[in-house]
Amino acid sequence: MFLGGNWKMNLTPKESELLAKEILDLFEESLKEREDIKVCVFPEFTALERVSKVLNTSDIYLGAQNVAYEDKGAFTGEVSPNSLIELGVEYVIIGHSERRHIFKEDNELLNKRLLKALDKNLKVVYCVGETLEERESGKTFEVIETQLKEGLKNANINKDNLIIAYEPVWAIGTGKAATPEMANEVHKFIKDFLGNDFLVIYGGSVKPNNAKSLIEQKFIDGFLVGGASLKAKDFFEIYNAMREK
Ligand code: PEP
Repeated sequence: MFLGGNWKMNLTPKESELLAKEILDLFEESLKEREDIKVCVFPEFTALERVSKVLNTSDIYLGAQNVAYEDKGAFTGEVSPNSLIELGVEYVIIGHSERRHIFKEDNELLNKRLLKALDKNLKVVYCVGETLEERESGKTFEVIETQLKEGLKNANINKDNLIIAYEPVWAIGTGKAATPEMANEVHKFIKDFLGNDFLVIYGGSVKPNNAKSLIEQKFIDGFLVGGASLKAKDFFEIYNAMREK
């Protein structure tokens, strides 16, 4: 299983360092008992160095929220995979709905990012998910299939270098999570498409009070958590719900 905490653009480097320390204190012992549950935090780029120093020798992984599709050059505002690797990053999120919808990153661009990341041996958390309009017009599966087909095109993927995060756009940051059955149905679709051994995690308003009912579902292998990952205790409660699976 996999638990990711996406801190988005919410914390300064100093605040991120403090949160990383709190998380480490809470999680440290339990992680040794459950090596099958990987925990990873995704701070803002500017906080990676400080958080990396905190997590350095721990069992918590470090992730980044995006990655450039080239190693270096004239790409103002982008962050090179080489820089991430130098800072100890092991996972990158690609295709988060905020990148897709606010910054208009399309499947073609995301595919370039993903190919580069995999080529660099970074592990990818690739996000897919439908908007409310797409769900209501019955296009959920079609949209997700296209995101998978186009985003993963020509990629040498396996269960160790790729995790899919199903994040319905209408559930992210809204407090309205998908029902466990709704999420499970899409997770099954994704596993049928890619293979059963791939981890498929759910994201979208996961909180301590709904984590248990979601993780009980057969095809849900963990979570990508936004808001609730900013509070160490809430993030730990979600982890504890996963430990019961
Ligand atoms: C996310 O950032 O991927 C996310 C799912 O956010 P939230 O948990 O706040 O809905």
